[in-house]
Amino acid sequence: MGSTAVADVVIVGGGIVGCMTAYELSQADLQITLLERGGLGQEASSASGGQLVPLHLAADGETSPLFEFHRGSTYLFDELVPALEDASGVCMGYERSGVLRVAEGENEHDRLKQTFTAWQRNVGMPVSWLDVDEVHRLEPGLGPNVLGGIFSPDERTLSSARFVEALGRILRARGVDVREGTPATGIRHHEQQVHAVETPQGEIQTPELVLAAGAWTGLCSQWFGLTVPITPLRGQMVAVRPHTPILGTTTVSYNGAITPRPDGTVTAGSTTEDVGFDDRTTVDGIRGILEILPRLVPALADATLVRTWSGLRPWTADGLPVVGRLPGWTGVTFASGHGKHGISGAPATGLAVRQLIVDGRVEAAHDVLSPARFVE
Ligand SMILES: Cc1cc2nc3c(=O)[nH]c(=O)nc-3n(C[C@H](O)[C@H](O)[C@H](O)COP(=O)(O)OP(=O)(O)OC[C@H]3O[C@@H](n4cnc5c(N)ncnc54)[C@H](O)[C@@H]3O)c2cc1C
Repeated sequence: MGSTAVADVVIVGGGIVGCMTAYELSQADLQITLLERGGLGQEASSASGGQLVPLHLAADGETSPLFEFHRGSTYLFDELVPALEDASGVCMGYERSGVLRVAEGENEHDRLKQTFTAWQRNVGMPVSWLDVDEVHRLEPGLGPNVLGGIFSPDERTLSSARFVEALGRILRARGVDVREGTPATGIRHHEQQVHAVETPQGEIQTPELVLAAGAWTGLCSQWFGLTVPITPLRGQMVAVRPHTPILGTTTVSYNGAITPRPDGTVTAGSTTEDVGFDDRTTVDGIRGILEILPRLVPALADATLVRTWSGLRPWTADGLPVVGRLPGWTGVTFASGHGKHGISGAPATGLAVRQLIVDGRVEAAHDVLSPARFVE
């Protein structure tokens, strides 16, 4: 029989969302246990391209509560990254050099120009239009099919794996009980109040549970006799190494994104595949990404293939994350379902969960994220 431990809050899942939540809660006087069945950040949070690109969420030119959530969250990195780097000694490769969205061919050019006009009016983030000469002056390596682009200086990139590594070090230094290799297998409850989280090593008594289990959160929701529809959405990625530096700016086309990294590699991706918990890389997936590389930047045809990988994004049918209290239960909070933008959304999510648990407060703007929308 296993042992019994006690915590004020137990967080299930040690990806970026669970770690950011633990980081925020650790600023209050709370005993926190973080359960991760494998290693911290081992799933989607280290597979990610690390792009902080809220404008993707206003692709039709319109803003939304989801866009506002991610825009606010993206700006939080400016204070967070230096503080975490100082406290952990981990460099996160935080690049504030902006993002370039490019149009290949006339049709895409007209479509992107329309988006630019709408963004100028609506989004409250700086953007500028680059004509064909300007776009090639900014990125001389781009191919001749690139006819223009939008440059957004406030979008960024970082290494999400390093970000989680830094959080892990800081959480341990702050006394958070971080348990890697420890899956949560269920809960003990009385009526609709959580009393403990079960693990193979014993239970952890707690009045507060946060579910941040990424693509596996839907499975965990069955502990409450329901299924919150958070499901996996596979993404595959590729890293190549050009002979000489060939790209300075993260460049996004309608078909994919390529990002120059501080170590001299260029990463590209990603696929969007509804294939359940199958996390393989496939010939088809990688071939699709490799085709984009030389089309956007011809010299990349001769780059060395370094690595391929994949990850499972936590996806919801309505495209919105699930952040908030589970109605009908006491002590159950969801923090998951961020899909393609869980890196950019993690700081705002951690903050929202802290406000819920520590201050008993819900921002009105977060109502749309509540799990209530999936509960009868
Ligand atoms: C290829 C790819 C590219 C991406 N690019 C970007 C990008 O550029 N920008 C961006 O913002 N987002 C991007 N994303 C999305 C982003 O990576 C995810 O939204 C984010 O990492 C989700 O974080 P998470 O903590 O919710 O999930 P995860 O990182 O998957 O973490 C969940 C953790 O929970 C653990 N777990 C599950 N069940 C249990 C259990 N029962 N007990 C204990 N632990 C459990 C898992 O082991 C896992 O470590 C990308 C994703 C992929 C796959």
